[in-house]
Amino acid sequence: MSTRAILTVNSGSSSLKLGLFTEELETLAMCHVDRIGRREAAMKIRDAAGRNLPMPEHAPTAFRTNGAALRTALEVFQADFPGLEVIAVGHRVVHGGVNHAEPLRLTEATMKELARLAPFAPLHQPHNLAGVRAAVDTFPGVPNIACFDTAFHREHPFVNDTYALPRRYYEKGVRRYGFHGLSYDYITGELARTEPELHKGRVVVAHLGSGASMCGMKGGHPIDTTMGFSALDGLPMGTRTGQIDPGVLLYLMDTDGLDSHGLSELLYKESGLQGLSGVSNDMRTLESSDDPHAQEAIDYFCFRIRRELGGIAAALGGIDGLVFCGGIGENSANVRAQVCEGMEWLGITLDAEKNVTHAREISTGKTRVLVIPTNEEIVIARAAAQVLETL
Ligand code: ADP
Repeated sequence: MSTRAILTVNSGSSSLKLGLFTEELETLAMCHVDRIGRREAAMKIRDAAGRNLPMPEHAPTAFRTNGAALRTALEVFQADFPGLEVIAVGHRVVHGGVNHAEPLRLTEATMKELARLAPFAPLHQPHNLAGVRAAVDTFPGVPNIACFDTAFHREHPFVNDTYALPRRYYEKGVRRYGFHGLSYDYITGELARTEPELHKGRVVVAHLGSGASMCGMKGGHPIDTTMGFSALDGLPMGTRTGQIDPGVLLYLMDTDGLDSHGLSELLYKESGLQGLSGVSNDMRTLESSDDPHAQEAIDYFCFRIRRELGGIAAALGGIDGLVFCGGIGENSANVRAQVCEGMEWLGITLDAEKNVTHAREISTGKTRVLVIPTNEEIVIARAAAQVLETL
């Protein structure tokens, strides 16, 4: 017996997410590895029914690299699906630059081109491409396909694609790219399938996870998003600042002598919920903490979402629906309630009971509020299957 499968790879700086799908795009298994490169890595693999798959007896308790984690996960998959044959590997690649909106078959030449975009996303792109290298080594001869987080937003109007810098910087690629596109692609696809009327209207999607952003769409087309040139802009995140006055950076360079490396560490890794609370970057931990700084960090997070919601609603000329997704958006009734409080002026009123039970639709007002679990892996798998058909 053999199982032909499409593998999806989302390779980050210290985490690896894998999805295993049939050719017909049925889910076979999902794998999540955290804390790669540290002493205690945690690998969880579940089958489509949500059952944990057992680790091989000799499995390491830590993984030095994403490639090592990939090889162990593959062993687990092979034990559960005898005769497993991976026929394509789809990759989440954060940056496609100005040129790439469509999924791309990876070759040495296209890999080189994507590596040149590393300065645009220094904390993501190199790790994404390391995942591609690991897959090339593990599955020789199998097509690798990149799907870009920036792709969804490439239709933005010029006013929302540029900064007010001298024009030459726009030409050099200093643009508002936007991220989390695979998640927005999934949500808009789900709306088209299940809520066709709402899909035609003005919808704001709030992707609230460790990284967080919002996107406004009209008829499924992106109009505005909170992230810009980098994945730092917009909402505060687990450890990232979100929007910050650039004057603060100039001040820190002058007074604290911070260079680009020091600023990068501060803005990406020491700020956001972690920096403000001094407690944790994890919303669950903050919600269960009685430290007042934890609540202040949550308040700041919700305040910034509310501000962006108003701004995006203005860009859309109104709002017909608000969708929450991502680990926080899907699971934190507190955050959803705090974001929606006093938003009747936008037609938003929550049904408190439905919100607490994480119902799919949690509103009673004219603007519909939905909770839709996102699924970036299936978007990558679909794209890989489509590219495979053309080969
Ligand atoms: P990533 O960007 O790493 O994919 P996720 O989408 O998994 O992140 O989101 C992680 C965030 O979701 C963490 O802050 C976590 O605390 C939060 N989260 C997960 N479950 C819950 C929950 N039940 N209540 C509140 N927050 C939650």
